[in-house]
Amino acid sequence: MEPNEPDLLTAEEFPEEIPEANILRPQTFDQYVGQKEVIDSLKVAIQATLLRQDTLDHILLHGPPGLGKTTLAALVARALGVSFLSSSGPALEKGGDLVGILTRIAPGTLLFIDEIHRLPRPVEEILYSAMEDFSIDVVFDRGAAARTFRHRIPPFTLVGATTRAGLLSAPLRDRFGIQRDLDFYHPSDLALILERSARILEIGIDPDGALEIGRRSRGTPRIANRLLKRVRDFSQVNGHRTITRDIAHLALKLEGIDDRGLNRVDRKFIETIKVVYNGGPVGIEAMAATLQMDPDTLIDVVEPFLLKEGYLARTPAGRRLTASGWEVLPEGLP
Ligand code: ADP
Repeated sequence: MEPNEPDLLTAEEFPEEIPEANILRPQTFDQYVGQKEVIDSLKVAIQATLLRQDTLDHILLHGPPGLGKTTLAALVARALGVSFLSSSGPALEKGGDLVGILTRIAPGTLLFIDEIHRLPRPVEEILYSAMEDFSIDVVFDRGAAARTFRHRIPPFTLVGATTRAGLLSAPLRDRFGIQRDLDFYHPSDLALILERSARILEIGIDPDGALEIGRRSRGTPRIANRLLKRVRDFSQVNGHRTITRDIAHLALKLEGIDDRGLNRVDRKFIETIKVVYNGGPVGIEAMAATLQMDPDTLIDVVEPFLLKEGYLARTPAGRRLTASGWEVLPEGLP
């Protein structure tokens, strides 16, 4: 099949999420800050694929939201010179949704599936043969008359992103030749990202101001970029042209982010374990019920940073506050 045939699926007509027009998203590997080991290994795999004129192995990216999984997938597609299509586990409700995509992609397409751990099981099972030998089994009729027809599909690379690799079934996980974890970013890396974003958005910021925002962004580029916009608002309203450390400090305090970089939800989480559960151990379902929050959000969004920073420990009996966790005050540090 030629890549330009009219019935091929293109990003424009693709029904699911087209990656948001985000001007801050890095367009080249040079602009993608941090995650050095992941980038280095992906670059080798990309180069080898190009040399062999082959299809890149399937990639599984694991890490909390906002760390750059979607961005990285798009960069890989760009480096390979192939089309990029994006969908997500919950959006692919029925097998037909996935079959419709796989039978119409251009050869070599990079298909990105976010939240791949949330793919319904029947849809996941279609992926097994699709990933392994670029074919899908189509079943005609039911019961005794059922016949299976093996349909070839164009070679493609699947990039799956997940916040919870543990929820992936073993057969699916094993079919990813490349598996990488993205880690939280160091404040100095976030400062670099912020300085680039500030240039694009034409915001004045000095290095200390960028570092101050970077330090309080929960190690996450998406949060850093969001806070930059809030600090810009504060700075403009107060008649400042450049974001300095002091301005960042005042603006972030107003946003409820304390000196340790914890936000209101983080502190409420810690305070609940302290006051209601006497420091733990407590199960996540009990915490979710007390906080009236979705347990998945707590596991995916709130806990990873608190665990990484050592405020929280996960034990077989449940979550427990550490000594630093006990020191966190409900109102945060000044
Ligand atoms: P995820 O898919 O892991 O939730 P995204 O790829 O959507 O995260 O990243 C969120 C935003 O953070 C992007 O739009 C981009 O602007 C920024 N970003 C993420 N990673 C980086 C990075 N390594 N360097 C620069 N900006 C980044």
